Amino acid sequence: MNANDSQQAKVSTPLPTREGKGGGSLSILHQYFGFSSFRGIQEEIIESIGAGRDTLGLMPTGGGKSITFQVPALAMDGICLVISPLIALMKDQVAHLRERGIKAAAVYTGMTHDEIIVALENCIFGNYKFLYVSPERLHSELFQAKLAHMKVSFITVDEAHCISQWGYDFRPSYTEIVQIRKLLPKAPVLALTATATPAVVEDIQRQLGFREPNVKRMSFVRSNLAYAVERVTTTKEQTVLELLQQHPGSAIVYTRSRIATYELAAWLSSQGVSATHFHAGLTHREKTERADAWQRGDIRVIVATNAFGMGIDKPDVRCVIHFDIPDSPEAYFQEAGRAGRDGERADAILLYDERSVAVLKRRIEDTFPPEEYVAQVYEDVCCFLQMAMGDGRGVTREFALEQFCQAFKHFPVRAYNALQLLSRAGYIEWADAEENHSRVMMTCQRHEFYTFQLSPAMERVVHYLLRTCTGIFSEYAYIDEKEMAATLGMPEQLVSEQLVELSRRHILRFIPRKFIPYITFVQRRVEREEIMLPKTVYADRKREMAERVETMVGYLLTPECRSVYLVAYFGEKDAKACGVCDNCRSGGKDRPTLSPEEEKALCQRILDYVEKEHVTSLTQIHFPDVPDSLLGELLHRLMMEERLPSFLT
Ligand code: ADP
Ligand code: MG
Repeated sequence: MNANDSQQAKVSTPLPTREGKGGGSLSILHQYFGFSSFRGIQEEIIESIGAGRDTLGLMPTGGGKSITFQVPALAMDGICLVISPLIALMKDQVAHLRERGIKAAAVYTGMTHDEIIVALENCIFGNYKFLYVSPERLHSELFQAKLAHMKVSFITVDEAHCISQWGYDFRPSYTEIVQIRKLLPKAPVLALTATATPAVVEDIQRQLGFREPNVKRMSFVRSNLAYAVERVTTTKEQTVLELLQQHPGSAIVYTRSRIATYELAAWLSSQGVSATHFHAGLTHREKTERADAWQRGDIRVIVATNAFGMGIDKPDVRCVIHFDIPDSPEAYFQEAGRAGRDGERADAILLYDERSVAVLKRRIEDTFPPEEYVAQVYEDVCCFLQMAMGDGRGVTREFALEQFCQAFKHFPVRAYNALQLLSRAGYIEWADAEENHSRVMMTCQRHEFYTFQLSPAMERVVHYLLRTCTGIFSEYAYIDEKEMAATLGMPEQLVSEQLVELSRRHILRFIPRKFIPYITFVQRRVEREEIMLPKTVYADRKREMAERVETMVGYLLTPECRSVYLVAYFGEKDAKACGVCDNCRSGGKDRPTLSPEEEKALCQRILDYVEKEHVTSLTQIHFPDVPDSLLGELLHRLMMEERLPSFLT
C-alpha cells in the first residue's frame, strides 16, 4: 500500500457523532489526537461553537487553541474554513492533520493559479474537513466563487488580534473576513488569540460582527513559572553558562541574531554544555534533525532565534533564557511560556545589561525610520531601477536589497524597514526572497509509471518523490532540491534538470522555487516630497511599538511581582503575586518602607549622582545602603517620568 492509499483508507473510517455532553468530542480527541482529556476551557469553547454561537477563545500560547476548532470541525458536517496569517504555520498544521489521516488543504499567496484550483476543488468534491486560507486571498473572485459551492461548518479566525488596529500585529486583510461572513450567513465564527488587551477583545468581536458578545477566557497566570530578570555583571555568555549550570534540565536560549545562535551554542559546547543552534536560515532537514534531537533530550540546550517554537511542544523545558530583550511583552510571554508546560517548576530568565534599554529604543527607530528617510529610500530605489518620473505603474523589476544597500550606502535593517513601510503605504509591492519552496504534483496515475521510458536519474527522482511525499497524486507537495540531492547522492543541478524534464513530459507538474526578489511599482513614480505614509501605517504603529517597548522596560525594572505585571498587561487585573518570581522571592525583605519624603530625597540623590559622577550606564549606579530592588524601582520611576538623561534610557 502506498502513502496515498493509506491516507484515503484512514479517512474512510466514519467520524464519531456528537452525543450528549462532549462524549463525541472526547472520542475524537482521543482517536485523532491521542489525548485522554480536554485541557482548561477547551471543552467550553467546543460546546459554544458546537451550539452555533460566535465565540472568542482567549488562551495563552501553548494552551491548545488548535484543538478547539479541529475537534468540532471533525464532529460536524462540512468543511471548516480557517483563516490564519502565517503561511509557515498553516503548512505546518495542514501537514499535521494529514499525518493523522485528516483531509486538509491550504490556499495562500505564492501558490500558482493552478495549485489554488486543485486545492479548492478538493475542498468541494473531496470530502475535506479543513481549508486554511491566508486573509489576502479572501477577496479573490476565484476563492469566493468556489467557496459558494462548499458546505462550511464554521469559520475559524486564528490569531484574531490581527483584525484589530490596536493589536500588536494588525493586518488590513483581516478586515475582509466580515465580507466572507456575509457569504456564509449560517456559519458561526470562532475567533482565537493568545494576546489581547481588553480593548482588543472588544474590537475583535465588533470587527467580526459577533451576534452577541461571547468570550471564553483562560487565565494567563502560569503558577509554576518563575520569572526573573538578571542584570549581567560579567558577560552575557558567561551569565548564560552559569544559569545553565544552576538550572539543570532541558533549556531554550533565545537570541535575536542568527550568528549569535551559532556562536553561543559553539561556545557552550566548548564549555561542556550539550547545545545546538537553530534559526530560519537552516535547511529543512537541519531544522528537523536539531529540533528532534533536542525534543528527545539527546541535546540539552537549543540556542535559537524566535523562529524556534511554533509547533514545538516539549513539556519538560526547565528554563528559557533570553539573551536579548524581545520588543513586545506579547513575544516575551509566548517565548518564556514554552518553559514548564508539564506543570513542574520552571524558570524564565531575561538578561539585561547597561545597553539593553538603549538597544530596545533604537529598534523603534530602526523599524520606523524617519519619514524623510523612507522617502529617500523610495527615490534611491527608483534611481537604482532607472525608473523615470511618472513611469512605473504595474512594472516589476528584480531587486537585490544587498546590492542596493551597497550602491546607495544604506543600512540594511533600516532600508528593509523603509521598503516594508513603502509597501504597506501602497507605493510598491516587495517580495523578499523569504520562505519559498519548490512544489511538485504528479499528473499521471501511479500504474502509468511502468509505461514511461525513464532515464536512471529520472527514475531515482521519481522514486524519491513517491517515497517521501504523501498525497502527491492529488496535491502539490513541497520539496527541497538540496535535500533531495544529498539523499540521492546527485548534484543539485542534476535533480532540478530531472524535475524540469519530467514536467516537460507531463509526468508531473513542477513549480521551481523563486530565488529572485522583486519590486513591483503599484503606482507611477512620484516626487519624493509626495511620499506620504498614512497614520495607520506609520504614526500609529510607531507609537504602539514605543508603548510595547516601554512595557518591556517597565518589566525589567518593576519591583512588583513579574507575573502580576505581565498578566495585567493582558487585562487580568486581579492576579495574585506568584510567590516564585525574583521579586516575590526577595519579597520586600530588602525593601525598606520609605515615607514619600524619603523617596523623593533618594530620587534626588540618584539624579545628583548621575550628574556628578558622569554616569554612562544604569549599572554604574550603586549605593551600599540602598538595596538593588529599591534602586531598580526608583530608576524605573525616574525613567517613566523621563527625568533621567536620554543616553541612559
Ligand atoms: P496554541 O495554538 O494555543 O498555542 P496549540 O494548539 O498549538 O496551542 O497546542 C499546544 C500543544 O498542546 C500541542 O502540542 C497540542 O498537541 C497540545 N494539546 C492541546 N490540547 C491538549 C490536550 N487536551 N491534552 C494534551 N495536550 C494537548
Ligand atoms: Mg495556535
